Amino acid sequence: MGVLKRYGAKLPVTDKTPSVNLEEGSTPLVRLDRIGEKLGVELWAKLEGCNPSGSFKDRGMVLAVAKALEDGARALVCASTGNTSASAAAYAAHVGVPCYVLLPSGKVALGKLAQALIYGAKVISIEGNFDRALDMAREAAEVRSFAMVNSVNPYRLIAQKTGAWEICESLGKAPDIHAIPVGNACNISAYWAGYRDARVWGNITSLPRMMGFQAEGASPLVTNKPCPDPETIATAIRIGNPVSAELAREAVRESGGEFNAVTDDEILNAQLILAKDGGIFAEPASCATLAGLIKLKESRKLPEGSTAVMILTGNGLKDPDTALSQVGKPIKIGSTLEELMEALV
Ligand SMILES: *Cc1c(COP(=O)(O)O)cnc(C)c1O
Repeated sequence: MGVLKRYGAKLPVTDKTPSVNLEEGSTPLVRLDRIGEKLGVELWAKLEGCNPSGSFKDRGMVLAVAKALEDGARALVCASTGNTSASAAAYAAHVGVPCYVLLPSGKVALGKLAQALIYGAKVISIEGNFDRALDMAREAAEVRSFAMVNSVNPYRLIAQKTGAWEICESLGKAPDIHAIPVGNACNISAYWAGYRDARVWGNITSLPRMMGFQAEGASPLVTNKPCPDPETIATAIRIGNPVSAELAREAVRESGGEFNAVTDDEILNAQLILAKDGGIFAEPASCATLAGLIKLKESRKLPEGSTAVMILTGNGLKDPDTALSQVGKPIKIGSTLEELMEALV
């Protein structure tokens, strides 16, 4: 139905807000029993990769773009590790405004780059990391009066709360544990705000513990200091100085949760488990959630029998290179039945 249609009454949407809709949101919440049994929990995965541009970014982008149009913006600009640009480019194309995206050179997954380009955005690759690209985009937005659609745009966080509302509606309660990857820390902050809304409305009676997972090479919220040279294969969370750090700390503190770091190897291992034991192909950043839950289980911090929801933030198809680097190649045969029978072992 689209986020603005389904939840417009609870969002800052007015008579003057144009209706923008790519049928984002209302994503599947899938129970993963084979993996859950091993962890000793009732495990659910929210498949945000099923959004129209393949990541949760669409939930917030739809409102950010609608409000930009309402304010008469002539163009959109953003800095991105990939998914924000894919999403911004998609909505810009859908409503017919130009879109400029700044990407850190060489550090964007192939699928995301292809998306921004095919949707017709002007893609500018800068020498420097995401944090630098963000500063540059901010300045450009000011000089040119473009709408800045990064998560510094307040509408992104507000509309991303819908993910939590959906989970509460689907489960009929809040989970005990909410596992989520953390980059700029907007999404963890949005989910926490969303759960608190749901409690105020009487849809849930308890709140989840917010468990935020970062990649070890980009874990400023775990080490409690900015990380000048973030490095990880999980490019969507390769961020050294999170924009919403304060809100995220508050979410973790108030909910009795934790930030934890997981290594790239643990992320890749979790990606394989999700695919082979869950039938779900999620991009590396998303898999930090399962890697994190496995780590909590090993350190006896995952209560037996609890309900855990993982936010699988992006689709695995966005980063085929990383996936292919850890699986075998297809078996090659000729065209005889004998060869085929030999291969079927
Ligand atoms: C943007 C993104 C994240 C990080 O979300 P933040 O709100 O920046 O913490 C995680 N995973 C994927 C796939 C993303 O695109």
